[in-house]
Parts: sequence; structure tokens; C-alpha cells
Amino acid sequence: MGVYGIDLGTTNSAIAAIDADGRPEVLVGLNGEPTVPSVVLFASANDHVVGEGARRQARLDPDHVCTLVKRRMGDAEWRFGAHGQLWSAPAVSSLILKSLAADAEFAGGEPVRRVVITVPAYFGDEERRATMQAGTYAGFDVAGVLSEPIAAALSYGFGRLDGGLLDTGPARETVLVYDLGGGTFDATVIELADRRISVLAVEGDHQLGGADWDERLALHLSQKFCAANPDAEDPLDDSVGSQLLVLAAEQAKHDLTAAESTEVVIAHDGARAIIELTRTELETMTASLMRRTLDLTKAVLAAAEQRGVRRVDRLLLVGGSSRMPMVAEQLHKEFGLAGELRDPDLSVARGAALYGEKLEMERLVAADLVTRGRLRDHADLTEADPGDLEAALERVADSFGQPVGLVRRMIEIQVDTVVSRGFGVLALDPFSGLAASWLVHRNQTLPIKVRRSYGTVRADQDQIELTIVEQQGQAASTRPEDTKVLVEGRIRDIPPGYPEGSEVRVTFEMGFDGVLHVTAYHVDADMPLTLSVQTGATLSQADVERELDQLQRTRRRNS
Ligand code: AMP
Repeated sequence: MGVYGIDLGTTNSAIAAIDADGRPEVLVGLNGEPTVPSVVLFASANDHVVGEGARRQARLDPDHVCTLVKRRMGDAEWRFGAHGQLWSAPAVSSLILKSLAADAEFAGGEPVRRVVITVPAYFGDEERRATMQAGTYAGFDVAGVLSEPIAAALSYGFGRLDGGLLDTGPARETVLVYDLGGGTFDATVIELADRRISVLAVEGDHQLGGADWDERLALHLSQKFCAANPDAEDPLDDSVGSQLLVLAAEQAKHDLTAAESTEVVIAHDGARAIIELTRTELETMTASLMRRTLDLTKAVLAAAEQRGVRRVDRLLLVGGSSRMPMVAEQLHKEFGLAGELRDPDLSVARGAALYGEKLEMERLVAADLVTRGRLRDHADLTEADPGDLEAALERVADSFGQPVGLVRRMIEIQVDTVVSRGFGVLALDPFSGLAASWLVHRNQTLPIKVRRSYGTVRADQDQIELTIVEQQGQAASTRPEDTKVLVEGRIRDIPPGYPEGSEVRVTFEMGFDGVLHVTAYHVDADMPLTLSVQTGATLSQADVERELDQLQRTRRRNS
């Protein structure tokens, strides 16, 4: 059974799988569209609707419609309230995931079990965890969380060679991925070299996307409407009116991608206005939003330059909002690069499916070798004897009905990435008091394993408090108030007898999924010490259980 790739987007989501010919294919669900709006309507306490139906109903029942939930991922406090129930961001997202799974089953007939879900490259630890949690709530085994620009690059690498994934073409290519979706913006510099995909630098803003363009336009439309109808209520003062206005704004924005001008009809409070709009007007009123994406792009190029990138060979345009003509025009004007726009809505899901296939093949080849006693359990495939590996590749290729060369290439692809934020601990500095000590730095290549030693602050210290912090903003400040506390833990019951400055070894480990594992060890005590880490930032176990229960009850009632 294959691994599905899911692009869990801010405004739209998509699910893809590898077809019989080994190509990634986006699955079309019941509604006949390859993408599904990431919108949930809580119709009653027991009933919800996901996708286009929810989006349409948004006009009638805006208070029960949850949109842009991806912007809330990682915010442990946030809840969406509907019909007396509270939903966290992972819980709402899980409903979108379940709906995608149902679409995939409709299209392919196979139940969805294992998945790769994509996230923006700049998503931090909490947001990635929340995404995994959404997958778990949906009942999936989450094989991996993959950065969206990597997924886009994988899909591009695959398409470029018509199946010969990253096999030929220039030996080394530097690609700038400009991803402007509905609610998030990501700029990433990626290097494709041999069979390695490395993220060299990332920048992004998850409060910036097509929805902001819609808002600006909606504001303009409301002003025009009010000017034409001074006695009528401002549509923005009414929740149904403003939802309708935003939808009209989005439609007008789409029209202005294809045409230089359009007309919008706004009917509200018994009044009507026909408003003329031109593409130039749209570009003028959203110039500062566009500027922000250009500034972030400039910053990512500067960061890549620091890592030795002198030239960008390609510009990939990803995300539905990249279709706006201003995007390619401005990028060309500013950076002299001609953007390539190929299925901007689908390439991320396709790349996720390719990555899922790679993970699945790796798993099958490893399992084959382990069963035959040719590889230790959990050992890396690189430890296998080349002859054994080749034989296993052939057996797996056979069972997949695919050329052995494809399986080999899939397995050989390596994905390197970087962290988007620094991670560290709060430690007592003899001169400045409590300060952030950074172990992991922004743009450092993954996987990461860092160890640093600290000293206890007094003799006979019986416990050590550990506060793990995440960088906030661009610079890694040492001031604790500039950091965000991720988790706190405590090594307790350290026996007396150890002097001040006794070594405490802290290890940070992060894999490609971006999940941070922290261990702390009091070395001189030379005994197992328990580290209990309480996450104040993510959902508590009680929250998880309650929500699972709530989801199951809703599902039972719906079935
Ligand atoms: P995504 O999250 O990548 O699916 O992107 C969705 C965003 O792309 C939404 O804000 C859409 O309004 C926007 N979008 C989709 N098609 C177009 C288009 N033809 N012109 C302008 N924006 C578009």
C-alpha cells in the first residue's frame, strides 16, 4: 500500500499518489476538482462539511465556518468555537485531512493509511508537531513532514526529466522557489546537485498570502459601495456582507489575472453598486504586500549568498497567488529572473507523493534485507553490502512492477534542509544573568545533532531547570524576553556532593521532519537521571484524548 502525499494548504489542499507508471498524480475527489478548499463548516454539533460546500455555505453561516486554520497551527491557545464545542487547529485540520482521504479513496479505491504532509519551510517545531498531530487525529500514520519548497523542487526535478528523477540535466542547479499561496508566503533557495536536494536558505511570512490581497480589494470595494450608496450600511459592518464582499474581491482578483479590467457587482442592504476595476488599480492597492514578498526574497538570496550561492539558475513559482501577473513581472524587474509557473497548485502535493514513495521504497528495501538477516534492524541502508542492496532493490522493484533503476534513483535521492529558526536553552550567564544560549542556528543544515556542556551554578545543586527556547524574529537575541519558550523540564533529585560547575550536557537533535528532541545529562552523577519535559506550548494529553473522543463521536454520528 502506497504513501499518499498531502498538501495541507492555507486556502486549498490536495492529495496525490504515485500512479501505475510511477508518476505522481493528484487525485480528484467527488467534487471533480483536484484541490479542495481548506474550509470547514460546522453545520451542527454533530455534523460538518469540508471543502467547496463549506466555502459556499460561508455566506449563510459565517460564524460556523472555519477558514485559514493553517495560520493557527502551533498556537496552543487558539480554539474555534461552534455549537458549544471548541476545536483546536490540529482538530480542524484533521477534518480537512479526512475529507482528502475520502476523496483519494473515491478516486483510487485504496484506503489512506500512511501519508507525507507538507508544511512551509519556515514552520517551526510547534507548527510541525501540530501538523503531525492533525495527521494522527485523522487516523493516519504520518511517515514524514516535508517542506513545501522541497516538495515543489522534487516535483520539478521529476517533471524536468520526464520520469528520470534528477538523473541528468545540469550537474548543479540553484533554484529559487517563490511560493505565494492563499495565506502564506515562502521564499527558499534550493540546490539540486546530483541526487541531492539541499535547502540553502528560507524566509517566509505565514500571515501573508492571497487572502491579504482579497482583504485590500474588499476594503476598496466597500469604500466604492459606500460612496455610491451613502445611506446603505457598509457591507464590512455585517459578517455575512463582509464574507460576500471578500468572495467577490477574490473572484475579481482572479478575473484580473486573465484580463486588464473587470466589473464587480455589490448588492447589500437593499442597495447595489457596479464597480469598475483595473489590474493596475489592484496592483497599486496591494503594492506594499507585493513589496514585502520581494524584500523577503531579497533576504533569502542574501542568506544563500552567504552560503556560497553566486547565481540562481531558475525561479519556480508555486502557490495559486503566483498566477497574478504582478508576481512574475516584479520578480523579473527586481532580480532579472524569468519565473516558471507550472501547475502552481498541484506541484507540492505531487512532490509529497514522490517523497512518500521514496520513504516507502526505503522501508521495503530495509525490511527485505532485515528479514534475510542482511541488515540489522533500524540500521541505515548505507550499511548494507552493495551486492545485497542490489538484490533487494530488484526484489522490491519486481513487487512494484517498476524498473529497478527507478527504485534505485528514488532511494538515492537525499533531501538536506535547514532550520528556519534558532533553538537554544536559557542559561545563567555570570555577567548578564539569564540569557539565551543558541545551540541550533537559523539556516543550519539538517539533520542536526549538537551537544553543549553547561556548569551547575552552585555546589550540591539538587535540580536543574531546562528551558528550551525558539528564536523569535530575524536575529538570535540573547535576551530571554525576545525568545519563545517551547518546553520546560527539570532534572530532579541530584544527590549532594557535586561541586559548582559540574557538567550538564545538553543535546539537541532534529531530523528532516523538523521535530526537536532534547536530552540533558548530569555527567558527574554518572547515573540515570530523569528528565521530565512538560510542554506548555503544545496540547496536553488530556486535550488530545478529549479531541479524539469528540472526533470519533462526530464520525460515528456522520456514518
Ligand atoms: P493555494 O493556497 O496555493 O491554493 O493558493 C490559493 C490562493 O491563490 C488564493 O488566494 C487564490 O485566490 C489565489 N489564486 C488562485 N488562482 C488565482 C488566479 N488565477 N489569480 C490570482 N490569484 C489566484
